[in-house]
Amino acid sequence: MRFIRDIHAEKSTTGQPTVSLEFFPFKTQAGESKFFGKTLPALMTAKPDYASVTYGAGGSTREKTLEIVDQIQKEFSLTTMAHLTCIKHTRDEIDAILDEVKKRGIQNILALRGDPSPGEDWSRTEGGFEFASELVTHIRRHHDFGVAVAAFPEGHIDCIEGREVDWQHLVRKICCGADIIITQMFFNNADYFRLADYLSEAGVKIPLFPGIIPVANAAQIRKFSTMCGAKLPEVFAARLDELGDDSDATQEYGIEYATAQCRELLDRGAPGLHFYTLNKSRAVLKILTNLGLA
Ligand code: FAD
Repeated sequence: MRFIRDIHAEKSTTGQPTVSLEFFPFKTQAGESKFFGKTLPALMTAKPDYASVTYGAGGSTREKTLEIVDQIQKEFSLTTMAHLTCIKHTRDEIDAILDEVKKRGIQNILALRGDPSPGEDWSRTEGGFEFASELVTHIRRHHDFGVAVAAFPEGHIDCIEGREVDWQHLVRKICCGADIIITQMFFNNADYFRLADYLSEAGVKIPLFPGIIPVANAAQIRKFSTMCGAKLPEVFAARLDELGDDSDATQEYGIEYATAQCRELLDRGAPGLHFYTLNKSRAVLKILTNLGLA
């Protein structure tokens, strides 16, 4: 399988955006069967460039991430990226995981700090890393992977000094050896363009992929928004209020909104799209079809 930086370099010579799909580990056997039997085969019809799988999020077991990326690569011949977080790991544990990732033929890592459990404050694990930048440096020195890092168009929620200070940390993290950057979800494209301009002025040359979430459920998106600090624009929030409990209409609005968002991002130079699929296929397929990318 391939480095994402090479896939992107090849696609950009033909003017095509790089499209990636993010999944999370399933909680049940039925969820896994549905994913491999229906969801992923449906999404593969859109010919995505790669898939990524989250690590430790939502209470799932950490081993699952590697099993899923492995299975996606083997059964669907699709390049994958395993997410990896520093939290609650020593350096030796990280090395053991990275050795296992390599053994399974996975070429790409999204190097993250991770978040503490609700109610806990962030603290560095003894013998581990404090920030994602240290994980990036470690991977570059001791392993051979393509490395992605996370970015926050509205600034990271913990960075009380504000978004520009967070972006200074981001630039330092990129300089430790990242190949690509993927943003947290956002709903106002101006935030993405502001970050893109900042990085460009700082001399960053690697691609900044916007993270897009098609809204399917108003309560769920409000919860995500509070957790990660991605603001819902007034017009968008008001429309969700109007649609109330009408889940079909909310899903259609989510598709319409994300399609318009993606169209503007690509028209104004975004290098591709990273979809937070929530392990579902319909909305992402519809958006890619609307954009002429499926
Ligand atoms: P860092 O880059 O380490 O930044 C964390 C905070 O520390 C920021 O506020 C930053 O400004 C600050 N900081 C950084 N460097 C310094 C420094 N030198 N001095 C002082 N402050 C500093 N979480 C999961 O648990 N599992 C996942 O699979 C997962 N996947 C994700 C995928 C994407 C695309 C994104 C955008 C996020 C994902 N997350 C995931 C969430 C992520 O782990 C959290 O948002 C986390 O709080 C920050 O991670 P980071 O890698 O950006 O951390």
